[in-house]
Amino acid sequence: MVRAAVMALAVFMLLVLPADAQSSVDECAAPEINVLATVGMIADVAANIGGTCVEVRALMGPGVDPHLYSATERDVEYLFDADVIFYGGLHLEARMIDVFEQVREGLHKPVVAVSERVPEELRLSADDYPDPHVWMDVSLWMSAAEEIRDTLVTYYPAHADYFRANTDAYLAQMSELDQYVRDQIARIPEEQRLLVTAHDAFQYFSRAYGIEVYAPQGISTQAEVGVQDIRDTIRLLVERRIPAIFVETSVSPDVIEAIIAGAGAQGHAVTIGGSLFSDAMGDAGTPEGTYLGMIRANTDTIVSGLLGE
Ligand SMILES: [Zn+2]
Repeated sequence: MVRAAVMALAVFMLLVLPADAQSSVDECAAPEINVLATVGMIADVAANIGGTCVEVRALMGPGVDPHLYSATERDVEYLFDADVIFYGGLHLEARMIDVFEQVREGLHKPVVAVSERVPEELRLSADDYPDPHVWMDVSLWMSAAEEIRDTLVTYYPAHADYFRANTDAYLAQMSELDQYVRDQIARIPEEQRLLVTAHDAFQYFSRAYGIEVYAPQGISTQAEVGVQDIRDTIRLLVERRIPAIFVETSVSPDVIEAIIAGAGAQGHAVTIGGSLFSDAMGDAGTPEGTYLGMIRANTDTIVSGLLGE
């Protein structure tokens, strides 16, 4: 009796549901969730996972430095209006921590530090501070994607299957990119596999992909670069015959220029190998304006710079 009823229901559903109902049932006809992210690398992942159900706004656009960023009055309005807030955490947005606390406690909505999903034992630090630049290791940034997925699934369960499917598709792309970076960096001869750039955003990249990094400015862009730091960098470049060093889109190039001049004075020509995206993505609408494109562009710039191409 029960079996007959189930069969009848199944036949009924086959008849009334359109063929593509299974895949489209969780999508949204219009955005339903207002997501606010701090940096582009988070906003882009959230947009990929949330798909048609989210409207994503990033507080910090291309070229903006999250270490020094303070919330403007308009940002506070955005924070109040948002349904979900994603930030990096691990002290990335050092001057916004109080604002996040206030919003979290006062407004009772999800305010989620996506990088803090990374297990303690896989986190890096420098000078007693956590290193927040987790997105530089694509395999670790996958955990940020999972944190975004789980937050959206928890608060908007009606779209859970859709968010999970989007995440799976995006994780597959991340996994492919992770392998690409590994393969490309391996093309650089070991002696020249040294990445010199102004501030230390590349420790995670270094560990994941087997390239040494040296950054005279240290972990935060707030630090002053001393004369000794610049001398040490020049000595390293001359000794290892490193052909190129790199500037970052969100950091002043002055330090890099002083290093190039110093190496030149010792008879070793160093060029600027190009601009790397460290704490912000490229312009919207360009390949570098996405997280995957940004990491790919960095990789290609580093490889051609250090191969002297
Ligand atoms: Zn940084």
